[in-house]
Amino acid sequence: MKTLRFKKDKVIKISEEMFPDELCERCGRCCILHAYKTEKGLELIYCPHLDKKTKLCKVYNNRFEHGCLTVMEGIMAGVFPKDCPYVKDLKNYEEPWFYRLLREEENKKE
Ligand code: SF4
Ligand code: SF4
Repeated sequence: MKTLRFKKDKVIKISEEMFPDELCERCGRCCILHAYKTEKGLELIYCPHLDKKTKLCKVYNNRFEHGCLTVMEGIMAGVFPKDCPYVKDLKNYEEPWFYRLLREEENKKE
């Protein structure tokens, strides 16, 4: 039986070429690690490396050493909101449940 091997650094390189950084709108939503529905609304736990003011990653250049996913891994794990540029044109992509509630809450604030 053959074993399928992959090299993580190669996956990252492919990911960078196929999904350039410039596409990111820096909304910070894919850095939400956990979401809970509470009586007061949605409670979100962000990655500790996200600067919530700027919505930028504080360890961006070394993010993979901190357990961050490549774009490709993120797509496979389904972490992006469906309006994220990296997935918006992907047929059958399903976003995590809390993004719809987050959009609803943000629309109410406007
Ligand atoms: S959800 Fe998409 S656009 Fe927003 S920060 Fe993540 S990758 Fe960038
Ligand atoms: S390491 Fe950076 S890019 Fe990755 S989830 Fe955390 S804040 Fe977001």
